[in-house]
Amino acid sequence: MVITFCDVISLIKAGQRVILKANLLQAQPPEKAITTHPAIVAAVARWVRESGATPIIADSPGGLFNRRTLSKVYQVTGMLGAAEQGRAVLNDDFRTVRVSCPESRAAKSFQALRAVVEADAIINLPKFKTHGLVQFTGSIKNLFGTVPGVTKGRYHARFAAVETFSAMLVDILEYCRPVLTIMDAIVGMEGDGPSGGDPRHIGLLLVGTDPVAVDVVAATIAGMAPLSVPPIAAAARRGLTSARVTDIEVLGSPVDSVTVAGFRRPRTGVEHTRMIPRPIPAWVTDQLLASPQAGPRCTVCGVCKDNCPVEAITISNGRAHMDLGRCIRCYCCHELCPEDAVELHRSLLSRLLSRWA
Ligand code: SF4
Ligand code: SF4
Repeated sequence: MVITFCDVISLIKAGQRVILKANLLQAQPPEKAITTHPAIVAAVARWVRESGATPIIADSPGGLFNRRTLSKVYQVTGMLGAAEQGRAVLNDDFRTVRVSCPESRAAKSFQALRAVVEADAIINLPKFKTHGLVQFTGSIKNLFGTVPGVTKGRYHARFAAVETFSAMLVDILEYCRPVLTIMDAIVGMEGDGPSGGDPRHIGLLLVGTDPVAVDVVAATIAGMAPLSVPPIAAAARRGLTSARVTDIEVLGSPVDSVTVAGFRRPRTGVEHTRMIPRPIPAWVTDQLLASPQAGPRCTVCGVCKDNCPVEAITISNGRAHMDLGRCIRCYCCHELCPEDAVELHRSLLSRLLSRWA
């Protein structure tokens, strides 16, 4: 759906505090296509300012949620400039609160950034990227960044299966209820996202008031069957979408005219497990899901060890080591490694299935 400036103005009221929930996964420059581009954040901030509200740029990147981490992330991702251009506030409230959601399906409560909880409205600014665990990180997954720092790892451990993790993501979405989603699909990421993939020119902004519909359209543009993306499937099980792009009112370019040919999925193999009854036996997991291993680029910074939800990583002999017997294949180490040093090793069966898929 195309949203005009007037539509945005009508969504935001004067005097409101509006969170601009960008994707600020890591302190990486915009050209790496890991984070929401600062030009988009600045433009949205200006709209919000012109409507008389206060835009607040906020996210909880991977790792510790503190001033040191955020300062570096804001600087390297271009958010300092975006805030200046859009007269936005950069969130520096590091307090968190426990939010109760008794009606939720998976997470009856969750820990969230206080700035988000106290805001009057949220504008969701996800990045068009692949994701090792949930296959595509769009509107739904972006809101997981409202959970502070390393607490996210605890949720990976608690909701280890991709289906329950996705149900938890939809719980967070239903709590946050962003008034608008603007997905940065100018330059997206294909392959082993959300940080280790390759930038891919898409040339689109996907805008809508229904974040699930935006994800369905985005997945379709990426050549993925929407129901093969676990958070969309979780939303569909909840009746939030039919997951059919033909059921969505799309204005602007027809979806089939902007579909990206040969868009590469992540190589983790999660899509091969869709038809297997749960719980999946460990030997099947080993055959179908890629195994994370630190490669020669490892600088023993310890980020993966600090963020592994099941303490499966040790550091010794100049390299991080993943205990695959304990590993739950959440791929947080792959996602958060600042050196892109975590390699995904696949079995022969997994490689063959990818070729046939
Ligand atoms: S694998 Fe990456 S995150 Fe882990 S210690 Fe090595 S460089 Fe750091
Ligand atoms: S080793 Fe990596 S993929 Fe395995 S559980 Fe730890 S962070 Fe997740």
